[in-house]
Parts: sequence; structure tokens; C-alpha cells
Amino acid sequence: MNVADSQRLASALERLGYSESAKVEESDVIVLNTCMVRQSAEDKALGRLSSLKPLKEKNPNLVLGLMGCMVGFRGQADIRKKLPYVDVFAPPSDAKPIIDYLIEKQTTEAINDFQPPKGFRWESGTLVLPKNQRKRAVSANIPIVYGCSHACAYCIIPYKRGAERSRDPQEIIEHINSLTEQNVKEVVLLGQIVDRYGLDMEEYPTLAGLLREIDKNEGLKRIRFLTSHPNWITDELLDVVRELPKVMRHIEVPAQAGNDEVLRNMRRGYTDAEYRKLIERIRDRIPGVSIGTDIIVGFPGETDAQFQDTVNQLRDLRLDVVHLARYSPRTGTLSERTMPDDVPDEVKWERFRTIEALQETIATEKHAAMLGATVEVLFEEKKKHRWQGRTENMDLVFVESDLDLRGKLLPVKIEWTGPWSLIGSLAADPLVN
Ligand code: SF4
Repeated sequence: MNVADSQRLASALERLGYSESAKVEESDVIVLNTCMVRQSAEDKALGRLSSLKPLKEKNPNLVLGLMGCMVGFRGQADIRKKLPYVDVFAPPSDAKPIIDYLIEKQTTEAINDFQPPKGFRWESGTLVLPKNQRKRAVSANIPIVYGCSHACAYCIIPYKRGAERSRDPQEIIEHINSLTEQNVKEVVLLGQIVDRYGLDMEEYPTLAGLLREIDKNEGLKRIRFLTSHPNWITDELLDVVRELPKVMRHIEVPAQAGNDEVLRNMRRGYTDAEYRKLIERIRDRIPGVSIGTDIIVGFPGETDAQFQDTVNQLRDLRLDVVHLARYSPRTGTLSERTMPDDVPDEVKWERFRTIEALQETIATEKHAAMLGATVEVLFEEKKKHRWQGRTENMDLVFVESDLDLRGKLLPVKIEWTGPWSLIGSLAADPLVN
């Protein structure tokens, strides 16, 4: 969600005439988009901000902005007092305060002697780069549900991003249309519980209905969505994933733990047996699907035996991707207020490494079965000498090629497999794609 917010801010800044700078020291505007999901993320953001303070002291014209969870959805008085050298603050998913600040600054200061950079032109009083010259990613993140109303015991998001709000479907379609005009080939629809899209608004479609509408966009090659919650995945949604070829066969549905008492303490709203049944239902309805999960180790009170239930769940289900975190209490959440953080750090690390090693084995075996197969890859970018892209199941694939493969969907023959990525060669001529 933060990446999506940053992308939207970047295109709004681009429309104002700003362009990406190679070095932070040369920037006119620096915005930190922050996360508070874990303490380490918050510490990192504060550290980064204080490292930017000397730049601001040297150049008072530099605009320093802070956005996201650290600013929060409600009051901002505390953070403003704590960081007086920051010029502008914006809550999650709302870049307007930054844009308004910059427009005012542009207008009042330098607009008359401003030399438009090469390629830019004035449009209704704003300096813009013509659409076809903007540097666009192949894949774009599109928030469709803001906030979350679920309130899991450990989670700061409902406090920081507010209650669940679905975005207007027409606005989403128009947003995607404008992106495909600029050569975006894949959209990733985002929500904290993405499958709850439309349920808060009577006249909006469900996520399945929205996917059918988005699928009509001829410029798009792929559609993804994340993150699902085990209680909200409908058969209608699974059938749409199976039926629409542009909708990728990959579901991100976090388990968080495999023990019923831990799940109850987390206020997740399902049991281990229900999660296992759900995975079976997803696999039955969507042949070839890949499934990702999130797991938190070391939740308050988690015993060795309870942790073993999580290991057993993963070992039995053999999911494709695991996003792993060690529990860290977030101020104001239910678990922070009522449950002592009693699992020692070294035990959290040990559990973390146990899951990591298990997943490495599972992923290695699953990928090894792909050796010699031909898979479709959407290529996104070239890093050093290799192009990288993803299969429809989210496997990361590298291919060596001197041709421009950006945005191309091509068959690739897999020649090497590892736990986290695959290497292959093109199985078709990209010039005829
Ligand atoms: S579903 Fe739970 S973990 Fe996910 S954003 Fe909402 S409160 Fe947080």
C-alpha cells in the first residue's frame, strides 16, 4: 500500500514539473513515506529523518515532507512538535497536503524565472511532461480499499489508516485506463482485506465484479489483487480468478499462525482447520494456483508447542510464498496494551529461522519441478545484464537478452531453479510478440 501511495505521489509531483533526482543531496523535495507496522520500520524512518536534517539546515529551500503511518490518520500535533524541521505532513494514501504545499510554494516563489526542463510544457497553469515521455513502470499498484475495520490484536493499521473505505469503481477504471495509455501492462489491486471491496457501499460491485470490468481493458496483460483475509474469499471470486485469463492465479491469504489459541488471541477470526479447508477450496477451484501467506512468530504467550502447530500447518499445506515477521508490539494496539511481549528475542529468531528453513526446502522442491518447463513471463526491468519478470504464480525469473523485453509477455524455458528464483531463456522471438 505504501508503494502504491508513493507511486501516486510521484506521478502527482511529475505533473507539477518535478522529476526524479539521482542523489538525495541534489533534491528539491524529499518525502519519506513511512510505515509503523513494526518498531524497526519506525526507528528506521526516524533515523533517516535525522540524517536529512543537515541538508535542510544547509538549504532552507529544500522541502522536507513526511507521509504515511507515522503522520497517521487523525491528529498530527505530536509529530509536528517532535519534528519541527519537517515542512509538510500527509496522512497515509493522501498526498494532497504535499501537493498543495508545493503548488503554493511554486506560485509564490519562483514561477516567473523557472525554466521548464526539456520536454515539459505548461498546461492550465501547471508544468507537465507529455504522457508518452513519462517513465512508467510495467506494473502499477492501485489501492481499491483504504483502511481496515478488522482490528487484529497486533495491528496498527486500523489506527493509522482509518476505517475501511472502498474506492469508487468508476474512478478505479479511469485510473487504470490512464495507466494503460502510458503502457502499464499489469495492475495490482490493493486493500488490507481486498476481498471486502464494495461491501461497505451498497451500489458498488464486489471484487469479482470489479475484476470483470477491469478485464475489459485491452491494454492490460495482467491483473493481480492482494491481500485476502481467510474469512472473505468467496467462491465467486475464486471462479473469476479461474475464468479470466488476465487475472493471475496467485492468492495472498495470511494464516499468521497455525494454533487456535494464538489465532484467538490475535483476533483473527478463524481456526487452523478452517484455514486448511480454505486452502483446499482455493486449490480445488483454481488448478495451478500459487498461494502466499504471512506468519508472525513469537506472538505474546506463544509456546513451543503452539509454534509447532504453525510449522505443521506450513509443512502440510506447502504454500508457495511466506512473508515472515517476528512479533513486535505497536503502541496502542490491543496486544500491546493487554498482552506482555513475553517471548524472548532469541526464541523469536530461532522460530523465524525454523520457518525460513522449512520454506526454503518447500520452495526449492516446488521450483525444481519446473525445470525444463515453459512458462509465460511478464518482463519488468533489466538489472545489470539480466531481464527480470514474473510468472503468473509470482515466481521471479531471470533471462539474459540484449533485446528490449520491457513490458513483454513471453514464453521462457526454465533452465535453472533455486529456492527464490528461476533462470531461463526465451522460447519465442520477442519481435513477433
Ligand atoms: S486484517 Fe488485521 S492484520 Fe490485516 S490490516 Fe486489518 S487489522 Fe491489520
